[in-house]
Amino acid sequence: MAIIEVSGIHKKFGNSEVLKDVSLEVEESQVVVIMGPSGSGKSTLLRCMTFLEEPDAGDVRIHDCKVQAGSPSGHRHKVIHQLRQNTGFVFQHFNLFPHKTALQNVMEGPLVVKKTSVKEAKDLADELLRKVGLADRANHYPALLSGGQQQRVAIARALAMQPKVMLYDEPTSALDPELVREVLQVMKGLASEGMTMVVVTHEMAFAREVADRVVFMDGGCVVEDGTAKKIFEAPTEERTRQFLNAIA
Ligand code: ADP
Ligand code: MG
Repeated sequence: MAIIEVSGIHKKFGNSEVLKDVSLEVEESQVVVIMGPSGSGKSTLLRCMTFLEEPDAGDVRIHDCKVQAGSPSGHRHKVIHQLRQNTGFVFQHFNLFPHKTALQNVMEGPLVVKKTSVKEAKDLADELLRKVGLADRANHYPALLSGGQQQRVAIARALAMQPKVMLYDEPTSALDPELVREVLQVMKGLASEGMTMVVVTHEMAFAREVADRVVFMDGGCVVEDGTAKKIFEAPTEERTRQFLNAIA
């Protein structure tokens, strides 16, 4: 059974229909890259998947939490909270707490949301900072870290909640080119450990190397879905071809 199941998501902002019946399934340990022109609805889709944005229709299941679009209720609120705990979210802008060190940023979720002990939170944070190659930066504040280092802290922070899946929204597009690689390397490492990941990115080399599937979105729809090889070398849709020509 798929670990992520998105069915029939619709989303309007005012009169503009930003997602038009989007469905997407992701199997456990799969890496799915989402590409598509600016404004095609990629960020809105990720936000709807975690109910940061409320879809107008459709439903989302992540692991054992299923939530339908619809009216708020106490129970629904609880399931959304649970669904978010299943899901690590990494944004384009790292959004670290500026007044907390790297270590404190990574400890925050477990301490505040999971109410773990300080020792447990610190041990986990130490381990995760090591994993993203930042053991020696644990006591640095974000302002003293490069963009690539900050994004790696953000990944460690998401992992600290021990999510079942990770969602990334253009995690490297705010970075200077020389810092992109270190972040993609960390993501590649996670993929090879079997983490299920949905990644909005235009990094074609990463998609080729790491993605099991590439999903191409345009105009609020999934236009094409296939292996990187198929989508990059033999797209069936003209819109996909045009987009790839424009970014290559
Ligand atoms: P992408 O991530 O593919 O660039 P987005 O999901 O950010 O696309 O945006 C899709 C469309 O929805 C765009 O036209 C954008 O302007 C619009 N949009 C996104 N968020 C909002 C919002 N909160 N209010 C109104 N319009 C929005
Ligand atoms: Mg976006």
